[in-house]
Amino acid sequence: MSQAAKTHRMDASPHGLMRLYYRILLSAAGAVFILHGVIGLVTGFGDQYGPVLIGMDAFLILLAVLGHELTAHAQAMSRNPPRGWMLLFVGVYLVLLASETGGLASPFFMLLLVTCVFGALLMSGLAAVLLTAIIGAMHAAAAWLLPDGVLREGIDGVKTAILGGRPMLLEEVTGIAMHSAFLFLGAWIAHRLSSEFRSKVDKLEDHATRDPLTQLPNRRGFMQKMREEITRAERFAWPISVLMIDLDHFKMVNDEHGHAFGDAVLSQAAQVLRDSVGPVDHLARVGGEEFAVAAVAADPQHGAELASRIVRRFRQHPWGDMKPGLAVTCSIGVAALDTSRSNSSPDASLSRMLDEADRALYEVKETGRNGYGIAGQSQTGRETAPSQVH
Ligand code: GH3
Ligand code: MG
Ligand code: MG
Repeated sequence: MSQAAKTHRMDASPHGLMRLYYRILLSAAGAVFILHGVIGLVTGFGDQYGPVLIGMDAFLILLAVLGHELTAHAQAMSRNPPRGWMLLFVGVYLVLLASETGGLASPFFMLLLVTCVFGALLMSGLAAVLLTAIIGAMHAAAAWLLPDGVLREGIDGVKTAILGGRPMLLEEVTGIAMHSAFLFLGAWIAHRLSSEFRSKVDKLEDHATRDPLTQLPNRRGFMQKMREEITRAERFAWPISVLMIDLDHFKMVNDEHGHAFGDAVLSQAAQVLRDSVGPVDHLARVGGEEFAVAAVAADPQHGAELASRIVRRFRQHPWGDMKPGLAVTCSIGVAALDTSRSNSSPDASLSRMLDEADRALYEVKETGRNGYGIAGQSQTGRETAPSQVH
């Protein structure tokens, strides 16, 4: 795909939506800026489109450019884009612009609507309702209280309008009611669409990262979690270990009792593992009969303790309840993150850790199974293992 095509693709992330919002502001304000400039020049900066209005258009352009840059910057730092207060600030400023350019008849009402729509796309239900209510109320108050051209008439104009008050015309009441209805309708439709979209994305993400048989995260989910944990561990110099767990002679379970029974054993094995790991550890099914644990804030010693506990729990589990004579054991390879090589990328650290854990696991398999081994150490936890019965 060409670069141009790439940059024009819709980006539905919060960063992408914020940038789209600023682009809409920029193009609308840019067009109005030129229009006001031309009419101002032609009419000799008359009352309607004088320097004040052109200055306000220019300020909106500046806000849009600044917001766009800030959002791109926030994405580079992988933080949340500034949303709520930015939308509120621009929204309130747009109310002022609208009251200067015809009040209820102002073309800037479209941008107020756009602000409420983007608020509903980007914010939670209550925050979006609040944003819409504040913008709607200010727009109604400005349309009622402020005479056209407040800025040009100065503070006295505002005082006369607010203190003097005036009865509202029926057209104005209807206009305010219609505008408020539009703002809320726009926000409601946007909110419905975005929550439907979000729940679909959440469901897809869950399907892509969860194993349906054991309900544990799958390899993809595990890798995502590991990358996050390694980044954190390297930043704060926390120890972290990974355990690769492989069930022993599992093919024999399938061969002797059938694939469906093998599945039931895998679910049971997942439960044994769930009961063995700590609350902050990440457990996953990374392959057919292979599981992995990211033991957070665990040095190799703690990793070894966890491995030893898992091996023991497998041996003690009443597998015979599933089928008389059944015994399921596992072999585990343990590797720790080497924080002294902190200049390597999380991906490089991750693949090195997994390689080391795999090699330690392979050694356990080679030398008798039903135990654990620690990468880089000759220590293994292969206490005399009971012979296996399937
Ligand atoms: P080892 O002790 O060397 O690990 O022996 P093994 O038999 O466990 O190893 P191998 O990798 O040869 O076989 C793994 C078996 O796991 C093969 C496959 O039939 C079985 N298996 C993989 N995924 C599933 C699954 O989802 N359900 C069932 N029932 N079996 C599976
Ligand atoms: Mg295997
Ligand atoms: Mg196996």
